[in-house]
Amino acid sequence: MTNPEHVLVVGAGLGGLRTVEQLRATGYEGRISLVGAEEHAPYDRPPLSKQVLTGDWEPERTGLRTVEELENLGVRTHLGLRAVALRPGEVELSDGATLYADAIVVATGLVARRLPDQPASVHTLRTLDDALALRAQLEKIGSLLVVGGGFIGAEVASSARSRGVEVTVLEALPAPSSRALGADLGAVAGRLLTEGGVDLRTNVRITGFVDGGVALEDGSTVTADAVVVGIGGVPDLDWIEGVDASRGLLCGPSGRVEGLEGVWAVGDVASWDGHRSEHWTSAGDQAAVVARDIVGEEAPPATVPYFWSDQFGLKIQLIGRPDGADEVLPLHGTGLDGGPIKGTVAGYLAGGKLVAVAGFGAARLIARYRALVADGADRAAALEFAATL
Ligand SMILES: Cc1cc2nc3c(=O)[nH]c(=O)nc-3n(C[C@H](O)[C@H](O)[C@H](O)COP(=O)(O)OP(=O)(O)OC[C@H]3O[C@@H](n4cnc5c(N)ncnc54)[C@H](O)[C@@H]3O)c2cc1C
Repeated sequence: MTNPEHVLVVGAGLGGLRTVEQLRATGYEGRISLVGAEEHAPYDRPPLSKQVLTGDWEPERTGLRTVEELENLGVRTHLGLRAVALRPGEVELSDGATLYADAIVVATGLVARRLPDQPASVHTLRTLDDALALRAQLEKIGSLLVVGGGFIGAEVASSARSRGVEVTVLEALPAPSSRALGADLGAVAGRLLTEGGVDLRTNVRITGFVDGGVALEDGSTVTADAVVVGIGGVPDLDWIEGVDASRGLLCGPSGRVEGLEGVWAVGDVASWDGHRSEHWTSAGDQAAVVARDIVGEEAPPATVPYFWSDQFGLKIQLIGRPDGADEVLPLHGTGLDGGPIKGTVAGYLAGGKLVAVAGFGAARLIARYRALVADGADRAAALEFAATL
């Protein structure tokens, strides 16, 4: 496609916003429409579990662009409306209207995963409204139960602790965040929680909900003044017929959705080359590629995936993709051996090649490893480089 008359972007979160911005950055002058299910103009999600929950930020500060700013970019917004059906060249909205376009970009993100029979009083955290509801609770409770010790669960725990709330985290795996970080660095992330005063219980199986909490497989119950379930998200795709939502929208390297002519996907909902990354930076990187593909321009150079999480005063950072790694290589600090967590950095090797690097409170060091990860440096080169830092 070189000169579409109308580009329709579905999903007014980060990926959708970056797509419309990138389209204009290419010099595209045609019509752009942005449809968003939430009433809010595009806002940023990372602060929801951090500064918004701690009370350090008022919700307005998460705003990325106002409707007026989008209008100034020549973007027509349709907020508070869900896309309910996708057909070739058209999208039907929840108010019954149909929008026609020659390029459609799906950027509908995730919906928070829920447990079976989850009561309405139990919180999840995906949207600004979710964050405000949880924040209102944190202002008046003494104890919080967090189900799920992934990054969002851990950040909620950290924010609640900063408000003096007693926190219990229940994690099904032997270590929190281990799906993303692996067992060894997951154990370090677990220590961050316990050193932060959290009652962390791992290898826990939940069998159901009880009044004010959950029942566990061993017959015991855990209760608190409020409960949050943070067990990840499911791609928001129930409006597109015939796709397996659990896998996301399968895309080629430039974001074109397989089997759907004239449709691209970006962000958390998109599975590019068999991989779905729920990273803030990936949404922007993919939007840059998709916008250029839509207008027939060459893609920008590939980037190394990057993710961060702020917990208990430390920034956890991950560059590259550790899935598939078969060895963890300590590079800096002694956190993996029970020493101080801050300053701990480790590499992930797959077949002897560096595929990712993760660190705790080591931003300056992490940034230096980007090129080595991009080049797939070998073990000796990684250790040699570490010795120079
Ligand atoms: C609490 C929280 C904290 C996070 N912290 C970090 C962090 O520290 N570091 C990091 O790298 N990443 C973090 N992330 C992840 C990051 O925010 C996401 O990767 C990013 O928001 C993905 O952008 P997206 O556009 O794909 O999805 P979203 O930002 O979720 O936007 C999707 C939008 O589409 C809308 N939508 C859904 N269905 C429809 C429909 N049918 N019609 C119209 N609109 C629809 C949704 O309402 C939503 O507004 C965090 C996420 C959350 C929720």
